[in-house]
Amino acid sequence: MPRILINECKQEISSFNPFLGRYHDFAISVGRELLDAHRGVGSEAGGALAVFRQHPEVEVVPGFSARAITSGGTVADADFAKIAEGFLAAVRQHKDVDAIYFSLHGAMAAQTEHDVEGYLLQETRKIVGERTPIVTSLDLHGILTDRIILHSNAVVLYHTYPHVDFFETGERSARLLLRILKGEVNPVTVRVAIPALVRGNELRTATGKWGACVRRAIAVENGPKGLSGGMFIGNPFTDVPDLCSNVLLVTDDDRELAEREAVAIANEFWAMRRHLHQPLTPLDEGIRIASQAKGYTVLVDAADATSSGASGDSSAILAEMLRQGYSRTVLMPFVDPPAVEAAFTAGVGAHISVPLGGALDPRFAPIEMDCTVRLLFDGKFRNESHGSIWDGGPSTLLECRNYMFTVTTKAVSLYDRSLFYAMGQNPETFDTVVVKSPHCQPHMFEQPAACYLNVDAPGATSANLKSLGHTRCRRPIFPLDENTTFEPVAKVFRRGR
Ligand SMILES: [Zn+2]
Repeated sequence: MPRILINECKQEISSFNPFLGRYHDFAISVGRELLDAHRGVGSEAGGALAVFRQHPEVEVVPGFSARAITSGGTVADADFAKIAEGFLAAVRQHKDVDAIYFSLHGAMAAQTEHDVEGYLLQETRKIVGERTPIVTSLDLHGILTDRIILHSNAVVLYHTYPHVDFFETGERSARLLLRILKGEVNPVTVRVAIPALVRGNELRTATGKWGACVRRAIAVENGPKGLSGGMFIGNPFTDVPDLCSNVLLVTDDDRELAEREAVAIANEFWAMRRHLHQPLTPLDEGIRIASQAKGYTVLVDAADATSSGASGDSSAILAEMLRQGYSRTVLMPFVDPPAVEAAFTAGVGAHISVPLGGALDPRFAPIEMDCTVRLLFDGKFRNESHGSIWDGGPSTLLECRNYMFTVTTKAVSLYDRSLFYAMGQNPETFDTVVVKSPHCQPHMFEQPAACYLNVDAPGATSANLKSLGHTRCRRPIFPLDENTTFEPVAKVFRRGR
């Protein structure tokens, strides 16, 4: 009976978030705990397990999983070492398995090791050797490296943004791994790297221009010789040497098809690059527009997007609202451990004066607010996107005049309404809601909004890419360097059988 090891390590970081990620920012599960963590959850590992369950001839060996509770800053070296130790200990313990599925992200980086995923794969090969098939799944925001491809038999990636195919990506990975294991296919991988960083609405695969590139890659994957295909756009905030965009195609021994299509998709992408950015409204103008808007108004502060790696403690919008005397009702999230602590000390119903914002990222100035503590809770809730438990740590709801603040100790993802709901707040009952995420599923905020504005606030995940100050990614790269040129080069990878 073939035995298949499953390991997981998922985190996405912003190098511009000064707050280092730590071991305790990850949910760790080992052995059977890994199965429990993914049972009934729409994750990649959940999708892979569902496929393996349909194949009673294979035995699943659950290894080690480290899942970041949410995105954050660069992971501290010592903490990454501890994660790698757990990950590789599971590989060592089960080194005689017949195949391996790794559910990774691709946009994790430690202080010294900038290609965490490539490192884990390289070290795994040292343990299991070259003959054990490994399929690796990644987020399309992952930073693809040669090392990741070299040590995987095939790489599988998301096809959707906003991401709604975690489960399907795991299913596709598992099916491909089974085919490789049975010797049915002989994968050849082609990568074309494109010196471009992109952002914005046109990247929404269902409605944006970029969707055409992804559909063309999917057509290769679904064709008679296709095994896997897609495009990586990288997380533009993960400032590492290999940061760029990539086409990746894997075919069954059809190098020509993969090369031809990958180059064509890359050229198509390059031609549309100027459309792949996010127009932003200056902050002061945005608040002026919002104050005169009629109906439900959404202010998108993607510069402080916790799911892209920002700290979640930006006070920039609040500062501008106070400066302009904004009088409409507002619902706004903050990550602010000292404010939560003050609320817990004072108790529900108490009046407290607390500084809000800038608790983690020193670029933001704390703003003293006189608040009433409306709610205290442990910060654990089931999210509406895929049903897993998110944990903001001790959390509170603070009210100050027309402002309602959801305040957590730790960052949680804000790409849906889960945190607001968890604190009993329906965003649509407010005049204004601040959404700290570049994109959510349209029905969540955009469709009900009468006024929807992407504001140009400062932050570690600003779509104003030139404002960030990249120092590590290879140059020139568009749009940081306007005169960047592109000549597609197809790089071919093939493992011995
Ligand atoms: Zn992503």
